Amino acid sequence: MSLNASLFAKAQRFIPGGVNSPVRAFRSVGGVPRFFAKGTGARFQDVEGREYLDYVGSWGPLILGHAHPEVVAAVQEAAERGLSFGAPTEAEIELAELLCRLVPSLEMARLVSSGTEATMSAIRLARGYSGRDLLVKFEGCYHGHSDSLLVKAGSGLLTFGNPSSGGVPADIARHTLVLPYNDPEALTDAFARHPDAIAAVIVEPVAGNMNLIMPRPEFLAACRELTARHGATLIFDEVMTGFRVGLGSAQGLYGITPDLSTFGKVIGGGMPLAAFGGKREIMEKISPLGPVYQAGTLSGNPLAVAAGLATLRLVQADGFYETLSARARRLCEGLCQAAEKHNAPFSAQSIGGMFGLYFAPTPPASFAEVMASDAAAFNRFFHAMLEAGHYFAPSAFEAGFVSAAHSEADINATIEAAEQFFAAF
Ligand SMILES: *Cc1c(COP(=O)(O)O)cnc(C)c1O
Repeated sequence: MSLNASLFAKAQRFIPGGVNSPVRAFRSVGGVPRFFAKGTGARFQDVEGREYLDYVGSWGPLILGHAHPEVVAAVQEAAERGLSFGAPTEAEIELAELLCRLVPSLEMARLVSSGTEATMSAIRLARGYSGRDLLVKFEGCYHGHSDSLLVKAGSGLLTFGNPSSGGVPADIARHTLVLPYNDPEALTDAFARHPDAIAAVIVEPVAGNMNLIMPRPEFLAACRELTARHGATLIFDEVMTGFRVGLGSAQGLYGITPDLSTFGKVIGGGMPLAAFGGKREIMEKISPLGPVYQAGTLSGNPLAVAAGLATLRLVQADGFYETLSARARRLCEGLCQAAEKHNAPFSAQSIGGMFGLYFAPTPPASFAEVMASDAAAFNRFFHAMLEAGHYFAPSAFEAGFVSAAHSEADINATIEAAEQFFAAF
């Protein structure tokens, strides 16, 4: 048995499914997950000493690649001063201030430790602020694993949601309406059907948890216009897109100002850190200022804040996002050309440092279209690329990521490996 396989067998004895987050188990693509030992830059190495070019980047945080020396040094320096104080530190102010400066819709921000906490807290805040219970989310968007969000659409488009996970009470799920992404009419109908009842609309401004789906500009505009008209809070969940699609995040690219936003992944630079923030009037409803409770023993943890500050300092370099975007674009163009040469039904697109690959002739625009892509073909692609040393997300329904550490030569090597796969397609 290979070392990866024996570790996986052992892991399954002590950890459910052998993993601490489900998609790591390779269930969707089959086979044995790789156990990783170390990484630098665009590459990481498994316990068998095999090296891979990494297109997952810890699912988004590693915009600078693995173990960036300046980020590691910042964490080491912070660690020497103390791991946690459970009391305020100056660096927390610096990070909150920086977030507010880089994302103008934030007038105040609060730091938490995971994206799930950020979205859960933003939703509680929106409900507390409005005194309303109903939440609107969109099919295929993921906002972490809190109860209100593990909900799928009811039988009719405008009926209340049903739990999509065991353990979520139906009584909680029915406060969430699930609507199709990119469909302004469905949102218009929902507000008409539930006047003065919707507390918030939460949306991934670029959807990155059902593969990559670009928003239609009129969809995001409708989210903004309808929430404003009906007194609901618009929450942009930028846990994935924040500082990933551009320095101003997705809201900067699309020129839309949400009421609240959530961040995670990149802002922690690989450490557990996330944030939610927005309008002062809303943020002042949080404890200790207001009645909406929210707290965290390790919130604003000094090591995580140090990693986040170092990362956000480096992404502000001139031309950072231009280069990152060009690498992701080159990867997508190269893969499409390789597929086209061999008549494989394949498409790809990118925005900033994130990309989507689809075994479908054109990029999908909705959850239903994503689900219609050829997952079996993706799985063959995944395993062929893994074998060749190119690590993509182990699922046809996840976005991919490039980092600033990916060189043009790295990208070209991946395109070449893909060309060999398509030649045998
Ligand atoms: C990853 C993600 C989350 C959840 O963040 P965790 O840190 O995994 O809890 C929430 N929303 C979006 C858009 C995400 O991509």
